[in-house]
Formats: sequence, C-alpha cells, structure tokens
Amino acid sequence: MKIVIAQMEHETNTFSPVPTPWDSFGPNGPYIGKEVTAAMKGTKTPIGAFIDLANKINADIRTPIAGLALPSGPVDLVAFQKFCDLICEEVSIGCDAVFLDLHGAMVVKNGSLDGEGTLLKKIRNINSKVPIAVSLDLHANVTEDIVNNCDVIVGYKTYPHIDMYETGYLAGSILLKSLKQEINPVMAWINQPILAHTLKMDTKEGAMAKLAAIAQSSETGDVLAASAFGGFPMADIPTAGMSSVVVTDGNKKLAKTTCNKIMQLAWTNRSEFIWEDIPLVKSIKKAARIDKGPVLLIDHADNCASGGTQDTMHVLKEALKQGLKEIAVGPIKDPEAVEKLIKIGKGITVTLNIGGKVDMPAINILGEPLRLTGVVKNITDGKYLVTGPQFTGMTMRMGRTVVFETDRAEIVITEELQEPLDLGVFTSVGINPTKKQYLLLKSRMYFKPVFGPIASEVVYCNGTGVTASDWRLFEYKNIRRPIYPIDKFP
Ligand SMILES: [Zn+2]
Repeated sequence: MKIVIAQMEHETNTFSPVPTPWDSFGPNGPYIGKEVTAAMKGTKTPIGAFIDLANKINADIRTPIAGLALPSGPVDLVAFQKFCDLICEEVSIGCDAVFLDLHGAMVVKNGSLDGEGTLLKKIRNINSKVPIAVSLDLHANVTEDIVNNCDVIVGYKTYPHIDMYETGYLAGSILLKSLKQEINPVMAWINQPILAHTLKMDTKEGAMAKLAAIAQSSETGDVLAASAFGGFPMADIPTAGMSSVVVTDGNKKLAKTTCNKIMQLAWTNRSEFIWEDIPLVKSIKKAARIDKGPVLLIDHADNCASGGTQDTMHVLKEALKQGLKEIAVGPIKDPEAVEKLIKIGKGITVTLNIGGKVDMPAINILGEPLRLTGVVKNITDGKYLVTGPQFTGMTMRMGRTVVFETDRAEIVITEELQEPLDLGVFTSVGINPTKKQYLLLKSRMYFKPVFGPIASEVVYCNGTGVTASDWRLFEYKNIRRPIYPIDKFP
C-alpha cells in the first residue's frame, strides 16, 4: 500500500503585519521528501502519528512536504502553490491513501481564503476517488470545500493542544479501517456564526470544556470521531466561526444529529465564549496591590502564537508609570535593538528605543517604541532546550538575545519571535523567574502549564496588538453577517 503523508500548517491572522514566506515553514523552509520522516517521525504531532500508522502496516510512505509556520499574516501565494504542487505531484504518481496534517485556518495573500479547502479540491481534481484523512487544529474555520473534498476529519480536543498525536492517530486509523472495508466513514458538519475569543477556548474551563466533553463522550457506538472547533476569529473571512464535524460508520443521520447536539450546546452557551476586557490602567492597579510574587502580567493582545508582532510596549509602559518594579519582561522581538546593544556591549549605560518597530495598518495603529535607560546585562545566542511540559526536549531558537536591565525591569530582547512557552526564555539568559515580583508575558494560553505553577496570581492586561480580544478594534469586512457577538440575536 502506498500512502502520501504531508503537513501544511498555518493559522492566518488576516490583521497581522507579520509576513509568512516559504522560509517561515521550518528552520530552513519546509522539510522536503526524505527530510520529512527524518524530522517528524517520533514527534507527538498528527504527522508523527500518520508516519507511525503507515509504518505499522509496512506501507510505502511518500512524504512530499511538511511545514509549519507560526501564526502570522496571510501566506505568500508562491509558498502556498509550492505546497500544493508538491503534494499534488505525489498524488498524481498514484497512491492508495492520503494523510494530511492541516490547520484549517490558512488564508493566502492575494489568493484563496481557504488554503486547506483549495489544496483538497486540487487533490480531488487529480484523483476523485483517493481516500483522504485530515487532522485539523481546534482553531480551524471549517469550510464546505474542506469537508466535501476528504473522507475523514478529526480535530484537536484540547487547548493548549496536547492531543495532536492522538488526533492524527484517530483520523489515520479510521481511514485504514475503511480501506480494509471494515467501516464506511461518512461525515456531517456545521459552521456556526459565533466569533469566539481564543482566550475563552481553554478546554479545561467554562463552555469550551463542556464542548470538548460532549465531543469526547459522543465518540461511542457508530460515532467514530466527533470534533468541536472553536475557530480562529482573527480572520476576516466568511467562514470564520465555531464548527463541528462528526464522522460515523455509515450513518449520515446520526452524524448530523450529533453535530447538531454539539453546536446547540455552543449556541446556548455563546456568551461564555466572549472575553470581557478591563482597561489596562485598572489591571496594572490591581497587580500593584498584590504583595506576593511572581504576578503574571499577561499581555494577551500581542501574542506571537496568534500573529502578534511581539513588540508592543504599552503594558510595560503602564507598569513603569504606576511604579511597578522587579519585573522580568519577555521576550520582546526587536532585532534592531539587539544589534545596537551587542555593539555597545555589557555594563555601559545607554538610552534607546525598545520595541514598537512594526506598524499594524490593519488595526490603524503605528508602532510605538518605549525609550528606556539601562545596561546590557547578558548576551546569548538565544538557543535553549525546553525542559517544561510543552514541546519538551525541543531546542528553541530566539536568535541573538540581550537582557537589557533598567532600574525596575529586566527585558529579554530577541531577534526572532518566541512565545514564552518555557521557563527557558528567562533561565537561559540568567534570569530566575521565581525571584521576580512581576513576569510580563506576551502570551495567551501557553504560559499556563509553565508559569501557572510558579505564579502567585495572573492578571490579564489589555495591551495593544493584533491579537487583542476586543472586536471593536478590528474592522471586519468579509465575515458573514449576522454573527455573534458583533450582531444582536434574539
Ligand atoms: Zn490552535
């Protein structure tokens, strides 16, 4: 049996000014051909599971491409076409099945608003019969073209995503069973007009926990897979919204009723998917009153794991204005400042502009640096080994990194984008985060398993950026209307 296995993962924030070229899909661009298994075999990802499944049945594995880019602005058209061409070329040679590790929220610059649907349609145009299994992220905006052009879809049930491997494994297993004619997978889906905030999609709490639980408990009897998608709301496209996909063994009606049941629960609890912000001044005031540290200041409006520029300075500015001290900040992406500070070297007092280098035209905000005086305390190559519970064992690369120390803050400044997903962002540059009164983190969800256990309290700070959780900041032109919560529903 010959199986084509590929990965094309990108969550597109259509408001983000951060570009998404070919090179962003891997350390040196995507993995191609034999590089794919070398890099992805053994990883706890959907594609890792697909490779394991195919190996188990001694299949002839063909891996045209695997690439994953951090969330950012629309994907370059040439890069997208290259992904499609390589995958389609392999399918056209002939195969018995296709396993695809996709995200489900890819938008192409000057191209398709539904990257995954477009890719699947292209594959179907080459071979209308080839069975296709797809894994999707919980933040997928599921579309008609995605559902109509594959056989099995399974989405992550967790956020933070810790079931990527299991999701791929389930999708691949269902397809393999159907190839042996043991089952006959059929799908139903619904995409609902709810623009939910990702800050309210933690699958351990609130309405999203209920949704994840009902999806999980539905997977019994003839229901082979049930997925509830939170969707990705920072996407100005008609299909942005929550959705559900259910795969059953030959029972279309059961698939439909299960889908309805899941989405009915989402609609009933729709107000619980909306984040209510408090003004930044108030958040910092609240943080200032907390005696025991470390207090986490979560700068969620500028999170690079959702398309943020990771360089807005408004939360730090307000924290300093209100007199907070003993703050560790980071990372802030500012290659220009890194270059300057390395040239100046350690221990020399200097005043310079930090952060705020990138404009955000889609939300009408210009970059606004913060002028600070301090010294370079440390310079590193920015590499660190993850020891925490997520991405354990992986080497992270922040680019050249500088610790800039002012009288009240130690700021980690990097050349590359880096989510604070491990204590290593601080410990690797000589900062002990447990000894700080405040940790200012540009994060939304991934700080939780790592910084949560060491924190005395968490304070969400409504800073500035393209990942803000306030719909009024975004000018949506292409989403469907009416949509909750922008429009009123009875
Ligand atoms: Zn996601």
